[in-house]
Amino acid sequence: MRNLVLFGPPGAGKGTQSERLQDHYQLFHLSTGDIFRYNIKNETALGRKAKAYIDQGQLVPDELTIHMLAQELDKHPEAAGFIFDGFPRTTAQAQALDKLMEQHQTQITAMLALEVEEEELRKRLLARAEVSGRSDDADPAVIQKRIDVYRQETEPVKKYYQSQSKLDQINGMGTIDEVTKRLFEAVDARP
Ligand code: ADP
Repeated sequence: MRNLVLFGPPGAGKGTQSERLQDHYQLFHLSTGDIFRYNIKNETALGRKAKAYIDQGQLVPDELTIHMLAQELDKHPEAAGFIFDGFPRTTAQAQALDKLMEQHQTQITAMLALEVEEEELRKRLLARAEVSGRSDDADPAVIQKRIDVYRQETEPVKKYYQSQSKLDQINGMGTIDEVTKRLFEAVDARP
């Protein structure tokens, strides 16, 4: 079983590249951002709780997020492996994910960390706002908050995987195809 964490700041291209990885390696794509948005759209109890945090560019609390992810994992026992997109975003989430993997008799294969310059992130997010309809992309103050939260709370998660020798840093600048090629090379180097 191959389980990949696709990591990077908001706008790094995680969603786009997840689709490529999913098709190429036959993995199940789990995006916490997508799951939250689905729950918000359908006005579930989870969606109502998560919305206030997301609209402000803050992280949804760990307890809620980890519980949701555990449930999603249980829904797909047939999966040959997962791509975790947008999770873990805190060290506590990374520890919880290791426990969950253990319970499923598997483990994380690698963390693929997309590296993109901050100016480029802002550009991509504002461009995405035009087509995504995501309110958290449309407001420059919310974008800045998400980038700040990434630097403070999420980026340290790299160290967690580095200490397990699972960190692969990937240059996320350039065309979509160029980045995909770099990701495939990194995954193939970890059989
Ligand atoms: P992006 O990667 O473009 O910032 P996502 O679609 O991954 O956006 O997530 C959107 C929002 O959902 C985040 O800004 C955050 O508020 C919330 N979120 C997603 N994943 C998590 C997580 N693992 N922990 C806490 N909050 C999360």
